[in-house]
Amino acid sequence: MKRTSFQAEISKRDTKCNTCKESIDRGVIRIKIHLMDHYDYYHLKCYTPKIKQYISKKDLGITLDPENAKILDEWLDNWNKDYAPLDKAFHEPPTFSKLVESTPSKYRRAWLEIFKFLDAVELFKIYSHVNKEFYHISWDEELWHFYCVRDYTNAALDDEKKNYRTQYIILRMESCFWCHAHQSQEKFNRCPLIGKPICEKCKKLKRFEQMYKSEVEAVYGINTNLLQLKFGIGTWNRKIVYRYMVDEALVIFRKRNKEFLLEEMKKTNLDPALIDFVENIDITTMDKSWSETLESSEDPVHELFYNYIRDKKSEKRVLNKLKSIK
Ligand SMILES: [Zn+2]
Ligand SMILES: [Zn+2]
Repeated sequence: MKRTSFQAEISKRDTKCNTCKESIDRGVIRIKIHLMDHYDYYHLKCYTPKIKQYISKKDLGITLDPENAKILDEWLDNWNKDYAPLDKAFHEPPTFSKLVESTPSKYRRAWLEIFKFLDAVELFKIYSHVNKEFYHISWDEELWHFYCVRDYTNAALDDEKKNYRTQYIILRMESCFWCHAHQSQEKFNRCPLIGKPICEKCKKLKRFEQMYKSEVEAVYGINTNLLQLKFGIGTWNRKIVYRYMVDEALVIFRKRNKEFLLEEMKKTNLDPALIDFVENIDITTMDKSWSETLESSEDPVHELFYNYIRDKKSEKRVLNKLKSIK
């Protein structure tokens, strides 16, 4: 993923600022934007980045004299204050303390064994609010030690300091969200698209393959406006998503199409076998077009309904077909 849509450099000759139209003096920091056939320049103070996300100094790849470095740092601090850092796990390590007085449950052991099956984050985000008994358990050292070992197998725990709840949360903030591998602060990388830490190894997995908007349309043969996709910005400011996001969005999209179709079908006197056919369409395996599916039948209505669920194609024909049966 591209981190910035601009470059910062020291002005080597007088150029004009694209915002205030005044000249940019030699020797000061200027922002340079590569457009198709020319560059646009800006004073640092006149420039607002297009991509609303954290900017790490190392992505700008600029070495500066102390005076200019201070100017750039101030500008970056001001811009970054609203965003989660992409190059470090957090600003300040979190601290937590109990807000409510509570006493141990007499069923502590039983609850503990049950909570061991659950998600650690759900424990403190949801279950701890249920009642005082659960709130008390949500601070149980034994339980948090268990979660640390279960979820971050190779993590080095500080057994002197205890406070495994805080240790767990720090581990979560520092580790790859997908494989749970711990990332050192030097190598820390947060994905701007999903806002979560991700390691170098996972970035190479097929599910995290980056796809341009146009590529999604070509590969999946679907109008991306129909899918609720959250695009990020890639090279040349083109819209990108991860492959897994497309796959997940497609399942949701097809599930909705199928439900709508079934609802409409049930209002008609359709042949129950046709309803059966639609009910049995597995929306998670619709990569293949109708003609490529193994169990493809000759029935044009089957094809029409299949394609409607898969791509929302021929919506009018589908609705007309249903109307004709009513
Ligand atoms: Zn200016
Ligand atoms: Zn990973």
